[in-house]
Amino acid sequence: MQKGAILVLSGPSGAGKSTIINAASDEIGEYYFSISTTTRAPRVGEEDGKDYFFVSKESFEEDIKAGNFLEYAEVHGNYYGTSLKPVREALDEGKLVIFDIDVQGHRLVRAKMNDITTSAFITPPTLKELETRLRARSTDDESVIVKRIENAKGEIKAVGEYDFTIINDTVEEATKRFVIVAKAARLKQSAEDEEKFVEHWLVNN
Ligand code: 5GP
Repeated sequence: MQKGAILVLSGPSGAGKSTIINAASDEIGEYYFSISTTTRAPRVGEEDGKDYFFVSKESFEEDIKAGNFLEYAEVHGNYYGTSLKPVREALDEGKLVIFDIDVQGHRLVRAKMNDITTSAFITPPTLKELETRLRARSTDDESVIVKRIENAKGEIKAVGEYDFTIINDTVEEATKRFVIVAKAARLKQSAEDEEKFVEHWLVNN
């Protein structure tokens, strides 16, 4: 049985998830950030093995068949997935495992590992603000931006499925909230640990 805990972060691309995680990293202790595999093309500045593992559609579909993914989904017309093996290893080592995955991925992780999972939806304050940030980032062409905005309109409806909502108005405030959420996520124990705790608590009186 695994000893670690999971923190799922979702929210539209451009919500500032990676900025917040980086800003919080000194305060949240050791964690393992799950690097997803994707069939989308790398953006300027993105590195294979750091931002994503960039693979072909064929290779991704082979991994699906082999059962190598904890979860995967199609987002904006590309595949995105979380490899099971490194997550298992990090959980076995008792680490907090952080995922940046979409709402479909969150549902699948909940279905499989609900007892050790905490989740937060991170979003800019408004759709308009999201649009401004996506355009300012200028890493995507217009058709991709339009697709991401459409996707965000759908994703926001799932906000109620998350334990917490973090509104990224200012990075400082959002980071403060994220640190609290990450600390809370760490407190989730596996079902086995809880059973042991109850046994110990009852016996040692
Ligand atoms: P982007 O292309 O902007 O990097 O990511 C697009 C969307 O895919 C984001 O909502 C992100 O959270 C989601 N995503 C990234 N990796 C995964 C993954 O492994 N699984 C799932 N289900 N979604 C992912």
